[in-house]
Amino acid sequence: MSLKDKVVIVTGASSGIGETIAKELADANCKVMLAARREERLKSLAQELGDGVTYHVTDVTDAKQMQDMAQATLDRFGKIDVLVNNAGVMPVSPLIALKLDDWDKAIDINIRGVLYGIAAVLPHMNERESGHIINIGSIASFHTMSNFAVYCGTKFAVKAISESLRKEMLGKVRVTIIYPGAVDSELIQSSNDEQTSNRLESSFNTIPPTAISQAVRYAIAQPNEVSVNEIVVRPSSQEL
Ligand code: NDP
Repeated sequence: MSLKDKVVIVTGASSGIGETIAKELADANCKVMLAARREERLKSLAQELGDGVTYHVTDVTDAKQMQDMAQATLDRFGKIDVLVNNAGVMPVSPLIALKLDDWDKAIDINIRGVLYGIAAVLPHMNERESGHIINIGSIASFHTMSNFAVYCGTKFAVKAISESLRKEMLGKVRVTIIYPGAVDSELIQSSNDEQTSNRLESSFNTIPPTAISQAVRYAIAQPNEVSVNEIVVRPSSQEL
């Protein structure tokens, strides 16, 4: 199915998986709204990708900014077909390190950010009886690991929210959750526990973010009556 002129919002589009999803969808002739906080990156990506791509500086932890970004999408493109809730951080550390600020940040970005994204587009999709919300979960949505307690907690929550949303919006809004394994990106830098980050960086083989962007493209490309609900994409050498 052609993706031409589908209007897609991508949060966390300034780097890594989100940036690659934006490129993949622009290549498929979608209209893309890039959302994240680092304006310079968004601006240069929008310029690189051409007329069908624009950006709105947005902090996903601020519900008003998310509403404004959704409104800017409607003003520019006239509709919202797909939201990709991708923005996320992974501040890993043992619980005993008591990094409460990191815990709050992960909860605010990874859970509240996803909910505020849903809030920003759901009334529009409900009214049109058409739409697609794609949430980026993680292998950490169904496995727990030492030092990942809070990250896993947030990604378990993304799974629960996605499944509930699907059940509530049957026949109106398609819901997809994608669970990536280790992907090459800047994510590891969002952890300020150097010891854990170093250990992680040396212990994981990663796959390129195109492995995830292609899954997003596949899910969007299905006909309206087909809802791809869950996709797991791991490096073939990853055990967990
Ligand atoms: P990156 O660090 O490269 O990208 C994270 C993105 O999130 C950036 O664009 C960043 O933009 C954005 N972001 C962070 N905080 C906010 C905020 N408050 N408001 C708006 N945007 C924000 O990491 P990835 O590309 O790897 O991560 C993307 C998603 O994939 C995350 O949800 C992550 O949990 C998930 N994931 C990644 C895996 C991996 O191995 N890389 C594995 C499994 C899941 P900016 O700072 O400009 O705001």
